[in-house]
Amino acid sequence: MTPQEIKTYLSKPHRESPMGGHFFGVYSECPWKFFLRYVLGFQPTESQRYFIRGQAIHSGIELCIDDGFDPATGLSTAVGYVDLHADELGVDYEDDRKLVSAMMMEWTNEYATGGAKPDSARYTELGREVEGVLRLSNGYEISIRFDRVVRCRQTGRILIIDTKTTSRSISSPFRSLTQGVQAISYLLAGTQLYGEAPLGFIADVIVGKHLKAGPSVLVQRSPLITFSKYAGIQYELNMIGLLSEITQKVKTYQSGELPCEMLFPRSTALCSMWNCPFENICRRRPDPAVVPLGFTHDPRLSLEVLS
Ligand code: SF4
Repeated sequence: MTPQEIKTYLSKPHRESPMGGHFFGVYSECPWKFFLRYVLGFQPTESQRYFIRGQAIHSGIELCIDDGFDPATGLSTAVGYVDLHADELGVDYEDDRKLVSAMMMEWTNEYATGGAKPDSARYTELGREVEGVLRLSNGYEISIRFDRVVRCRQTGRILIIDTKTTSRSISSPFRSLTQGVQAISYLLAGTQLYGEAPLGFIADVIVGKHLKAGPSVLVQRSPLITFSKYAGIQYELNMIGLLSEITQKVKTYQSGELPCEMLFPRSTALCSMWNCPFENICRRRPDPAVVPLGFTHDPRLSLEVLS
């Protein structure tokens, strides 16, 4: 792939994440966080940095695969994405550039050129950035986007692969995947979309941190996450229940009948586990009309999606 082709790809606007299963995941982690993030629409400014890094890696992986798993293409794409957003990254831009390069190289070492067996030998790709919709039996639809859908050459079955970038420890994304609902929602949506039950879901977690000595990167693939029919039914029932609970609470909050703290209690037990970006504003009652320092207002996530 030529530098010009990479530039053309990067000049396309990148799609935002669809409103989907993660929305419910935040509510389950901490209703108060959900309230601040989605009901009031406070978006941590710092999350823009994480979004740029994550998108750089996703773009790098995408073009690396398109170019026959060429690591050089992956690296130039990921770094090119960071360069494009240099102004938003500000003074830390150089550090972000180094970190994204290191993360991208680590992923290609592991899965493109293959520390073990490269993905090109293991899987046939069926789709990338695949948009899916999970239809619940009450008619509600949850948008899902699969990073990659592949067919395993050995078993002939479909697999869904997601890439997660984080600066936290490797264990928290794995814990949220195995205990949370995302994997189940993907597997159900995959079944609806492809007309066959996927073998499972796996996630490539790439942890990248700035350390004094330079970037520190760890890449690890999750074990295969599968689900039973019972878990699928249970998931659907939970989702329908959660949806009606959230809708009711938002309506009650908007009517002024009950205070927000009562409707959306803080889940303090999980704070340290999730390394919460709302920590600094968590303890005081927020003014919906005043966006706190270090946050922007994100109207995209208004709760009209629930009605
Ligand atoms: S700091 Fe803890 S209690 Fe506060 S919003 Fe975050 S997870 Fe919830």
